[in-house]
Amino acid sequence: MAAQETVEHKYVYDFAEGNKDLKDLLGGKGANLAEMTNLGLPVPPGFTITTEACNAYLNTGQEPDGLADQIAAHLESLERGMGRKLGDPDDPLLVSVRSGAKFSMPGMMETVLNVGLNDRSVVGLSRQAGGNDRFAWDSYRRLIQMFGKTVCEVPGEEFEHALDEAKRAKGTKNDLDLDADDLRGLVDAYKKIFAKHTGREFPQEPREQLDLAIRAVFESWNAERAILYRRQERIPADLGTAVNVVAMVFGNLGPDSGTGVAFTRDPGSGAQGIYGDYLANAQGEDVVAGIRNTVPLQELEKLDKNSYDELLGIMARLEEHYKDLCDIEFTIERGKLWMLQTRVGKRTAAAAFVIAGQLVDEGLIDLDEALHRVNGAQLAQLMFPRFKLDHDFEPVAKGIGASPGAAVGKVVFTSARAVELAAEGESVILVRRETNPDDLNGMIAAKGILTSRGGKTSHAAVVARGMGKTCVSGADELDVNIPAKKFTVAGQTVSEGDIVSIDGTTGKVYLGEVPVMPSEVVQYFEGSLDPEHIDNPLVRAVHRIMTHADAKRRLRVRTNADTGADAARARRFGAEGIGLCRTEHMFLGDRRELVERLILANTDEEREAALDALLPLQREDFIEIFREMDGLPVTVRLIDPPLHEFLPPLEQLAVNVAVAQERGEDVAKEEALLAAVRRMHEENPMLGLRGVRLGLVIPGLFAMQVRAIAEAAVAVTRAGGSACPEIMVPLVGAVQELETVRAEAEKVIAEVVGDSGVEVLIGTMIEVPRAALTAGQIAEAAQFFSFGTNDLTQMGWGFSRDDVEGAFFWRYLELGIFGISPFESIDREGVGRLVRIAAEEGRAARPDLKLGVCGEHGGDPDSVHFFHEVGLDYVSCSPFRVPVARLEAGRAVLETTGSDSR
Ligand code: ADP
Ligand code: MG
Ligand code: MG
Repeated sequence: MAAQETVEHKYVYDFAEGNKDLKDLLGGKGANLAEMTNLGLPVPPGFTITTEACNAYLNTGQEPDGLADQIAAHLESLERGMGRKLGDPDDPLLVSVRSGAKFSMPGMMETVLNVGLNDRSVVGLSRQAGGNDRFAWDSYRRLIQMFGKTVCEVPGEEFEHALDEAKRAKGTKNDLDLDADDLRGLVDAYKKIFAKHTGREFPQEPREQLDLAIRAVFESWNAERAILYRRQERIPADLGTAVNVVAMVFGNLGPDSGTGVAFTRDPGSGAQGIYGDYLANAQGEDVVAGIRNTVPLQELEKLDKNSYDELLGIMARLEEHYKDLCDIEFTIERGKLWMLQTRVGKRTAAAAFVIAGQLVDEGLIDLDEALHRVNGAQLAQLMFPRFKLDHDFEPVAKGIGASPGAAVGKVVFTSARAVELAAEGESVILVRRETNPDDLNGMIAAKGILTSRGGKTSHAAVVARGMGKTCVSGADELDVNIPAKKFTVAGQTVSEGDIVSIDGTTGKVYLGEVPVMPSEVVQYFEGSLDPEHIDNPLVRAVHRIMTHADAKRRLRVRTNADTGADAARARRFGAEGIGLCRTEHMFLGDRRELVERLILANTDEEREAALDALLPLQREDFIEIFREMDGLPVTVRLIDPPLHEFLPPLEQLAVNVAVAQERGEDVAKEEALLAAVRRMHEENPMLGLRGVRLGLVIPGLFAMQVRAIAEAAVAVTRAGGSACPEIMVPLVGAVQELETVRAEAEKVIAEVVGDSGVEVLIGTMIEVPRAALTAGQIAEAAQFFSFGTNDLTQMGWGFSRDDVEGAFFWRYLELGIFGISPFESIDREGVGRLVRIAAEEGRAARPDLKLGVCGEHGGDPDSVHFFHEVGLDYVSCSPFRVPVARLEAGRAVLETTGSDSR
């Protein structure tokens, strides 16, 4: 018992005690500082206070027991090592207090430098620096400014104004022209500001400064901006942040000092080389803040060759150690290089592929690891057309890239105007402060959507993503005035009809028409580039990684395609069959007339005549598709939507009838149609007479389609091709439904197929929850299942997609009821469970049951992983998503075999 009490929970780690795999506990910054320390790189000494301490503080409102003592002990050992005491009046040790969560949250959490300075130690600091008064007072004023702003919430502008005022009095625009006396005066001014806003004097006691700063970092985890960022990036709210206390090194000691940032490769393109910025005679924050102009890192070679060479050596070492692009922060203090931060750097989608490819070439990683380091979302980004930005286009605003793509069009401010102009064939960009359900029509009509408010889960963002439409949200530089039909940005006014270009990937907004160019990656998939002779490094990397993914994956990838042209394109993109060929378009256009006859038929003869007329047309459709998919399976879904969808709308018919009657014309046909429409009206068409129910109610309808499919297959096969049709019955909820359709279909197939050698499978969609729950029975009558996860999601949740996405999804996302729309990514626990049950029970009843999915989830990265896990045979998605699904199906294998190295 006693032993238990004496073992204190460890809340503080010296840098030498940690390593890069302790990110949960030490945060990314702390874990990597520890890693660099243990690599023997020049890191200023320090220690990390754990995320556990932060969470304990946030949960109880006070520091956990033992924390204060542990900090004291680690501080003491830091002081011993440095031979200086924190804030000592004669020879002070100064520290920085830096936040650092598991995931980097740029700009979200704050850092305080120069902790330990006060009215007395500022003199000691000057002495330490060889009588450099200017440096000492500059450091002190920075402390008051950062401490005031981040620890005590003093408005930052007040300090900025005082600094501007001091420069104005001096007649300069450059901080460096302020001398020691000016800065001493500025410290006085800052202290007054501090006292005015906090009601107390600036704390002189070093340990109090330290404790308050640590506490402020803890609290910044729950700052509004941080919460918002986490929500947008889906970072869990309960991770907490670590706090790093680091001995200060000074880049502001004169021209032989400075500070900089660097990347080991270009994070934009992935190209090898030296990328970074350097600023002489400056402290930390100045580089990022853009206060003075930085110089390219290469210039450092001339300024300080030793430090430059050492830095390049360290960068190479870090890359080799992390086996990835690293980004770093460093400071040079009087010719001595110090490393202040490193992490595996963020990069664009293109750079992700290029770098992964290069690292394979360099022998640092293998192809599995390369595949692991890229993802389908990045590949999807690379498949959008891009803006060609080689000349003169500067963005006027940067919002949130809410839904990717490059859209150009005329600005409109109302939904109604968007619809009007779009109807005239114009491309329009709908600009709103934020959108709401009333804007739906305008959003559908627009090429792109631009809002000045709202984040990734705003109405605009959620709905646009659902539609696959380009959207930039939260471009708050825009001052939008809807009644006046204009917005202002960067001093310019943009009125209705002016052209803007928006980039839904980067969130950037441009005035005027930016030229759009097709994606090279798509050209490669289209087969217009010879993979053996590609000099574009991006395409080469994509080719290699895709080839590896294809070799790896177990899931087959099919496509959803209704026409020969779609089928051909998807095949070029690597589709291995059609998972969903919908037949409803075969009832549209000039065939409507035949559908009307079918619906209005009063006698068997009339109905059969209409079906007989449809048969050859459908057969031709299928022949074209079977030819394109020669040798590959084609799943054809029998007609699914309610038939009244093929009739004119009620209002229009009523008007037609009235007008015709007025003119004294013969209205018999119109009246019959009107009566039929009235009769067939449904309150909830989604749950009405559709799918298999239609086939059971309208004699001969399914039989005609089955015959067209079988005859087409026989025709293609007799002509030397190979057709592999799979007939899919939609909306089955009970095995009896399927059995009835099956009996009828088998008769027709037997008649048609004869000795042609054609084999036709019959299976069903699993899209009604009851079907999933009785899958064992249904499998007795089905050779395959295809999960229709769109309907399964609608019926599983009990909401209709068309109604809910625009109406309240944004609110559900905002409240965190779901983290992502269940139409975008499969809801694993609910709808996914239905899939799992049906797959297991179906396979138990019929071991050779083929299992696939044909909802839009088939092209969603996370969902693909889920379907792999559940053991489906294939996913089917839109042609454009086929490469994404191939890539993710390969990655899914890596994940389940545990070569995940994160
Ligand atoms: P962020 O997470 O915003 O990058 P950091 O904690 O890295 O914040 O610190 C902000 C700036 O201060 C960086 O430029 C960093 O290099 C610099 N800095 C932090 N600690 C020290 C230190 N001990 N000595 C000198 N500069 C420091
Ligand atoms: Mg940093
Ligand atoms: Mg369906």
